[in-house]
Amino acid sequence: MTTKNKVLVVAAHSDDEALGCGGTIAKHAHNGDEVFVAFMTDGVGSREPGCEESIERHKCSERALDVLGVKTTFRFDFPDNQMDSVPLLSISKKVESIVSEVRPTIVYTHFSGDLNVDHRVTNQAVLTACRPQIGCSVKEIYCFEVLSSTEWSTKAREVFLPQKVVDISNFWERKKRALIEYKKEMRASPHSRSFHSVEALAILRGECHGIDRAEAFYVERIIG
Ligand SMILES: [Zn+2]
Repeated sequence: MTTKNKVLVVAAHSDDEALGCGGTIAKHAHNGDEVFVAFMTDGVGSREPGCEESIERHKCSERALDVLGVKTTFRFDFPDNQMDSVPLLSISKKVESIVSEVRPTIVYTHFSGDLNVDHRVTNQAVLTACRPQIGCSVKEIYCFEVLSSTEWSTKAREVFLPQKVVDISNFWERKKRALIEYKKEMRASPHSRSFHSVEALAILRGECHGIDRAEAFYVERIIG
């Protein structure tokens, strides 16, 4: 990982960033990279944007991002679990506006094969916003896995086969602390989105590569 990169994480819901790449975010921040996070929905499916649940989730995400070392956050209010009801153009234009403002070199987002429709739409919007045209700042795009969405998807769709592995052994505790801020979104074991399961995946991704804890990514693009 080189230093002083501008890194943009585009997540459908607050908690996806911590589940999918919390350790990697903390590592980028530790290395001096500037990390920006964009949330596409308020994550609560509220018809009233200012409702108590939405405010609470907002606060949880602020604390989690603080733990991970993120300074700047963008928030949109596309409809939770219904992003497919919005024209893709409207969503990709919002992502494009962030990409123009931040000019990231590295982007992390959802995997195209996830079960959750907001995740799939976010992936499409990011790929549309980051079309590799002249002047595009984005050189690398990686897709993270989110437990209870990536592995729950039909295998008739593309299966998550990661090619990039990030050693988060020294950042696991930060990821865990960020997830504790999102404890309302976590489930009791046995469940795919339990603390036990998230740690088990980090161990599996790590130990398969001779390291303690890791996050793994599907490589969408690397321009060298
Ligand atoms: Zn999500």
